[in-house]
Amino acid sequence: MIGNKDLLSLITSTSPYQDYFTVHRPERTLYYVEETGQKDIDNFFRGVLPEAIGSYKSRYGAYDAPGLFALSDGRQVLGIELRPDDKNLSTLTLSEGSLLYCDFCYDFVPTPEDAEQIFSGSKKWFEDFGRGVISKKASEFRYVTYAESKRTRLLFPIKDESYRFEITKSYNDLTKEELLERIIKDPMMAAYNWSFLFEKLGGYYNEGIKDYAYVYFDIKRFKMLKEIHNSAIAIQHLNRIAASMEHYKWIYYGCRCDNDNFAMMIHDMPRDVMDKCLRDFFESLSRLEENPYYRIYYRCGVVDMRTALNTSLGVTDYAKIAHKMCDKMNETEICYYTDEMWEKDLWGKKIRNYLPTAIENDEFIVHLQPKYDINSERIVGAEALVRWNYQKKELLYPDLFIPYFELDNSISALDDLVLKKVCEYQLAWKKSGMKLVPISVNLSQKQFEQEDLAQHLQDIVDSYKIEHSLIEFELTERIAYENQEYMLSVMHDIKDRGFLISMDDFGTGFSSLNLLVDMPLDTLKIDKSFVDHLGKDSEDYKNMVVVQHIITMAKDLNVTCLAEGAEQISQIEALKKLGCDFVQGYYYSKPIPVKDFELLNS
Ligand code: C2E
Ligand code: MG
Ligand code: MG
Repeated sequence: MIGNKDLLSLITSTSPYQDYFTVHRPERTLYYVEETGQKDIDNFFRGVLPEAIGSYKSRYGAYDAPGLFALSDGRQVLGIELRPDDKNLSTLTLSEGSLLYCDFCYDFVPTPEDAEQIFSGSKKWFEDFGRGVISKKASEFRYVTYAESKRTRLLFPIKDESYRFEITKSYNDLTKEELLERIIKDPMMAAYNWSFLFEKLGGYYNEGIKDYAYVYFDIKRFKMLKEIHNSAIAIQHLNRIAASMEHYKWIYYGCRCDNDNFAMMIHDMPRDVMDKCLRDFFESLSRLEENPYYRIYYRCGVVDMRTALNTSLGVTDYAKIAHKMCDKMNETEICYYTDEMWEKDLWGKKIRNYLPTAIENDEFIVHLQPKYDINSERIVGAEALVRWNYQKKELLYPDLFIPYFELDNSISALDDLVLKKVCEYQLAWKKSGMKLVPISVNLSQKQFEQEDLAQHLQDIVDSYKIEHSLIEFELTERIAYENQEYMLSVMHDIKDRGFLISMDDFGTGFSSLNLLVDMPLDTLKIDKSFVDHLGKDSEDYKNMVVVQHIITMAKDLNVTCLAEGAEQISQIEALKKLGCDFVQGYYYSKPIPVKDFELLNS
């Protein structure tokens, strides 16, 4: 991470482009806690907000995140910029005006002098250094610190005259060449923009290029890169990508589409040669200059122009379809378009569109797969696994629809539905006096994007008046890995409400052991891929050692161990020897209809 001094000099260094975007912002109001004391401020830095503001958390996106505002009279107050009225908070009306803003990593507390220095010359170099419209009394704003996103936003008022001056200068006083430059160049870095490449793809200005391949790529988990380092470093890396696209002879043209998305027209080459070129290209950009230990991975979709000919889709759509197929976490993936991908994409669109109807027609069925205590061989719970009686014609298994529903938020509707059905069963069993065991439902990663997930889940369960300890949520390591602090807080929230939590498919993801210690888990589900190698004639010693250690570690952490996917008696015996508590697998039972489960569990 670079220090604040470096950051300052970086931002104030000369930028090749100095034009601005103007954003209209309507009249806004600052709602703030009048008596903000030091204790509130300390709490704020720990991520705890006063109730009055906390309830508005993230309501209007990042710009409106709650912050610590410096008022012109020297006071620091906790507040949030909002439009609706709220009688509990003091308000300050901000009429229209202009401001420049700039984001810093957390530990930077700017002074007004810093602001002058950073904004003098008004360089638009920094990514989050844009221009908005704000109060004429803008001196009320010096800086805003967002505890949750760990950044400080420095706001600098601009006088209306200068603002008007720039607008006039930007458009009326520009030469034809300058105007063209503005149309085809990225305002933030030395790269062409999408308009430029689009013209080239159109064929009129591409200097007669007949055969080419189109490449669309972005950085995996770019947001995390920005969070771990800072925006300045992230932008430097994007600049390196832009420069690199100029460097290779096999690249006709490249552009930055937006954010971390790039596109290129490249020479059409035999697949192996193209693959080598692209892999070398990404490899050369796989490390951050500022932190060589941090690996950067790319997601890249490719289509050659001939494949795209004579179809209604353009090369750009095809490349995006291929790009969408890259779904691994920690590796650079290059996906070449195939017709099968197109069919998959079409299927995904079709079923996402049909989902509300399918829910209305009650086409989804929940099967239950019992979980057994390996010693007593008694049922200790079950997992709810969804099946789809698609258009009431054929039974589809999750791999044919879950991944497609995970591409947008459709999965949340389905997961809610499964949870409701499970609650219905629990309620019916309770009424009929049947033995009650916890039933687990799978939570997908997308669900975690929902604000107040724990409350949402509780609302569903409470509407059936089901005891929370009868519902278990399964989540995968992937979920916990992505945004650790946030995920941990949601997991604790779920756990604190009395629900059970299990870690699904353990061993296939990227859990750090530290993370495992911090997670409030009840059960660790050892993935089937480990269980597969157990109990064979030629015992896989290394695999056994791994499983043994997982079980020992779980026990030390007071977490129950469940083995997934045991199919053979020999596997059960091996697991018993290793001290595993529970098993869920075909050996005992496949996922079965609810009626069959009721018989088994009676
Ligand atoms: P999962 O949560 O790891 O579920 C276990 C999967 O392993 C199930 O496949 C189950 O049928 C299968 N399985 C269990 N024991 C054995 C065995 O002994 N041998 C073999 N070969 N397979 C076994 P299924 O039902 O096809 O589900 C696949 C995945 O789909 C699930 O993996 C889960 O990630 C997802 N899924 C299923 N239902 C839902 C749901 O309602 N919501 C969400 N978000 N995901 C779901
Ligand atoms: Mg599961
Ligand atoms: Mg599993």
